[in-house]
This record gives sequence, C-alpha cells and structure tokens, in this order.
Amino acid sequence: MGQEVQVTGLVLQTGNIGEYDRRIVLLTKERGRISAFARGAKRATSSYAAACQPFTFGKFSLYEGKSSFNLMWAEVDNYFNELKKDLDLIYYGSYFCELASYLTRENNDELEILKLVYQSLRALEKKTIPPILIRCIYEVKILALYGIGMEVFQCVRCQGKENLIGFHPAEGGAICSSCGTGMSSMSGSTLYTLQFILCSSIEKLYTFRVSDEVLSELRKIIKEFMRIHIDHQFKSLMFLQE
Ligand SMILES: [Zn+2]
Repeated sequence: MGQEVQVTGLVLQTGNIGEYDRRIVLLTKERGRISAFARGAKRATSSYAAACQPFTFGKFSLYEGKSSFNLMWAEVDNYFNELKKDLDLIYYGSYFCELASYLTRENNDELEILKLVYQSLRALEKKTIPPILIRCIYEVKILALYGIGMEVFQCVRCQGKENLIGFHPAEGGAICSSCGTGMSSMSGSTLYTLQFILCSSIEKLYTFRVSDEVLSELRKIIKEFMRIHIDHQFKSLMFLQE
C-alpha cells in the first residue's frame, strides 16, 4: 500500500517523460537520493511546474508507491534565481548536481552532501570567490564525504608528517621528500589549502581565496585524483572549459 511522505531536499536533475510529465531526481534529508514522477509538470497549469526545475530547494510531498514516488505538492524555499541568470554559473551548478547524483544513493544518509551542494550553489550565487575555486573546494569535499578523501596530513607511503612536497594521485595523497621521486610537486600553500578544505566545516568552506599558482596546482591535482578514483564522464562538464 502506498503512503504520503514529506521530504526536504534539492532537485538535482530533471528529465522529460512524454509530452507533459517529468521525472525529477531529489537529494533529500530523509531518504537520500530518490527519483519521483511528476505528473503534468510540463503543463503551464501545473501547480508545481516551477518546483520541478533543477536547483529547487524546499519541501516535497510524495506518494510512495510500490516501486516509485509520485510528486503531490511542493513548497519551495529557494529557486536559486540569481544563479540561473548566469549561464556559466548554471553550468557549474549542473555539474555540482550531477556529481552529487552520481555519488549518492537511495536510503543512504546523505545529509552532509545535501548541505554541501546547497552551500556550494549559494557560493556560486554570492560570487565572492571565483567559480573555478568553488569547484575545486566542492570536489575535494564531496569526495571526502563520499569516502574517498585525499590523505594530505601525512605521507601516503611512510606516514611521516614532515616535508610533504608532492602528491601521488593513484596512492591518493601527499608524498614526503624521502619517499617521493618523480611525483608531481605540490607547494606548501596548496597542501595547506587541501588541509583546510578537509578540516573545515561546510559553513566555513567558501571563505578564502588563493593565488593563481595555487589554483592551477589544485586543478591539476584534483583532476588527476578524480580521473583515477572516479573515472566517469560527466555530461555537464562538456560546457565547462578548463
Ligand atoms: Zn614518506
């Protein structure tokens, strides 16, 4: 028998089903990542058409059937309308959502990832730090929350804490000067930035800037790390130029 459930969450993705209906992927506080069928959501007269757009955050009431959820109504807290005015930010936001969707599951506790996605969309909207840095921070943090965090507090080979001067993407972290030969080098500022991202609470993540040198080093390290540990082609990345 079906029943009504209420969840708080964010619309990560939407897809069309036929001419009038939509399927939405929600990241929720209560049920992890779920997908729901929104009947008639493409009709102009639909009461929840606006809620069935990516980046919508709010409360959703769903009818839980045997194998799927059906959207009944939505009460929206935030549409991220500022973000939607800038095409570049939409691309970043879409990528953040796609990555979150890829890493989360139904009935998992995904509350921290939900908070992270929400704060990251807020950071894009605020524009106090560049989107490319927001992306770096987001990627490092979401992978850590997912369970594949970088080891940047000690050497991945000898566990020594001194002279961490390189990064080994395949071994997943920092390398010290006695262990590392031929590794890609990592500056002290980049090391400190990665440590800060991993230690910081989600609320304080988007509060710093870095030099261009550190930013390009971060990009390179994260890109190689993700290529090895995630190895997935994200559709939304096609629009983001490196
Ligand atoms: Zn070492």
